[in-house]
Amino acid sequence: MTSPPNTPPSTLRGQLLLPGGELRPGTLSFGTLIEGVTPDTAPEQAGGMHLILPGFIDTHVHGGGGGDTMDGPGGIRTLARLHARHGTTTLLPTTITHPWERVLAALRGVREVMDDGGVEGGADIVGAHLEGPFISPQRLGAQPPNTVLPTPDLVAEVLETGVVRAVTLAPELPGATEAGLAFARAGVRVGVGHTRADAETVTAFLNALCAAGARTCATHLYNAMGGIEGRAPGPPGALLADSQAFVEVILDTIHVHPTGFLLARAAAPGRVLLITDAMRAAGLGDGESELGGQPVTVRAGKATLADGTLAGSVLTLDAALRNAVRAGVPLPEAAAMLSAVPAASLGLSDRGRLEPGLRADLTVLAPDLNVVQVYVAGRPILENTHD
Ligand SMILES: [Zn+2]
Repeated sequence: MTSPPNTPPSTLRGQLLLPGGELRPGTLSFGTLIEGVTPDTAPEQAGGMHLILPGFIDTHVHGGGGGDTMDGPGGIRTLARLHARHGTTTLLPTTITHPWERVLAALRGVREVMDDGGVEGGADIVGAHLEGPFISPQRLGAQPPNTVLPTPDLVAEVLETGVVRAVTLAPELPGATEAGLAFARAGVRVGVGHTRADAETVTAFLNALCAAGARTCATHLYNAMGGIEGRAPGPPGALLADSQAFVEVILDTIHVHPTGFLLARAAAPGRVLLITDAMRAAGLGDGESELGGQPVTVRAGKATLADGTLAGSVLTLDAALRNAVRAGVPLPEAAAMLSAVPAASLGLSDRGRLEPGLRADLTVLAPDLNVVQVYVAGRPILENTHD
């Protein structure tokens, strides 16, 4: 997906989020890559200007718009298009705990979409997030009970698909550290989640991975890992106290209280990334849906299984940004939680900031923080193009 040669670059005017974290009126020019980021020398009134932000990056998203990663290529294309309309320009289709062959089939589906040149009109897909089956059978959350142990053979089998970019492991499982090290050697971000481990086990796991140069992360901090107490800090305490681990937060205000989010931000500055953990019902409004073969009811934006267990969210990243700002986080910092931070967590150096030479993945918002236009590698996603 490259521009025809000699196409003059497009330009956008608005408030630019500069790599240093400053918002400044100016002009951005781009083809498939960003070519120029030019703040005005005599700054005019910024009021009423659109906000030009680096495109959002979602490292944990199961579905949306009626499609799910487990459906295969069709579902993956559907979710990539739905989330692109909400500002997401890069994502990792995320698997759910299912019988082994189905997990492998889903990973091969992600491979097929990537080999096919990506999704026309959708977010860029840079790999998959393998969430389960290497998780605790006692901390499933909304995952179906198909957990397995992360044996070297199974780890090798998923790595062979060449598509896993992030993984979630429960550190207390036999073989989890060896598995984490194998994933890290393959460049995979290693997440701690769906776990009943104590803080000591999580800290030992993170230390072993950190010593091997791994990028580590909390898989949806607070959810499916128990809480924090002074005497029993649990996985959330261990993850926040580790100065290297990134932390995913589902900021729909249902999975995590805004104060829980602010606590994470205070404890882990520059390491909090917002995710959707969205399921297929995202973008479809209230009604009946499905997650991992289980019926789900969505009411007032809350998705639950029949027994009341919180299922995946129906969040989109534009709404997560608005929730962060509503919680009191300055817009530049909130935007980084959706771009520069997730990019760093995955080791992606070609995106995540407005900088010449990086991909022209751009999310343009109105002053009320609603999405106006989205560009994936310079291509507009929405039909009502403004520039
Ligand atoms: Zn998930």
